[in-house]
Amino acid sequence: MWKMRGITTGLKSITSIIFNSLYPSFCPICGDKSNSFSISPVCSKCWSEIKQYDGPSCNICALPFVSEKSKICGNCLRNKPVFKEVIAFGLYEGILKEAISQFKFYGIRRLAKPLGNLLLNFNIPDADAVIPVPMTKKGLIQRGFNQSVLIGKSIARHKRIPLLINVLYKIKETPPQVGLSASERLKNLTGAFIAKGNLNGKFLILVDDVMTTGATVTECTKALSKAGAKEVIVLVLARTGGL
Ligand SMILES: [Zn+2]
Ligand SMILES: [Zn+2]
Repeated sequence: MWKMRGITTGLKSITSIIFNSLYPSFCPICGDKSNSFSISPVCSKCWSEIKQYDGPSCNICALPFVSEKSKICGNCLRNKPVFKEVIAFGLYEGILKEAISQFKFYGIRRLAKPLGNLLLNFNIPDADAVIPVPMTKKGLIQRGFNQSVLIGKSIARHKRIPLLINVLYKIKETPPQVGLSASERLKNLTGAFIAKGNLNGKFLILVDDVMTTGATVTECTKALSKAGAKEVIVLVLARTGGL
């Protein structure tokens, strides 16, 4: 086994050397030449500084807190979320934010695996399937890939459960959510998702790249519950808000 790993590592570094000499890129964080194919353009030094958030946060929606005193945030106290809980790797800032935008907005697909693997640092609860937050057909054609599907692959493989991409659909084009309040976001997304098929009694992991107010994952959970899902846990790379 160790021999195989040695060969794989060797091949990976050869690929990195060839790739980096053919397509030299500069790390968007530190400006140095990037040196690793799988995480390029982010350099390995910067990548190694991506940190898991281990500060205080809401026990339900993972909203980061300043103090350790609170356990549940005001939003969750006022309106109990439809999902069971949110597990978030880090805060949407710094290198993690840059890596997600390189992946998503600049179409650097190879970042999917190392980003998805960040989520494997957790004790992910057992579930029947992984469901990625879907995009509309139009959105998918424009971007060429759904980032949540690619991230979800790592989790499904790790948990040895299916990644279901033909269950949850986004049927309504929604305007960009940036700059909108939580209630405006929710209003925008109402009726945007439907789940097809029978999910009776299923425990599901819903995967997305970034969670802001939770409007998207709330609407997705509602659709999944309507199709019979028993429980939905949300897994995201990065969480914004709070602090
Ligand atoms: Zn760097
Ligand atoms: Zn909360």
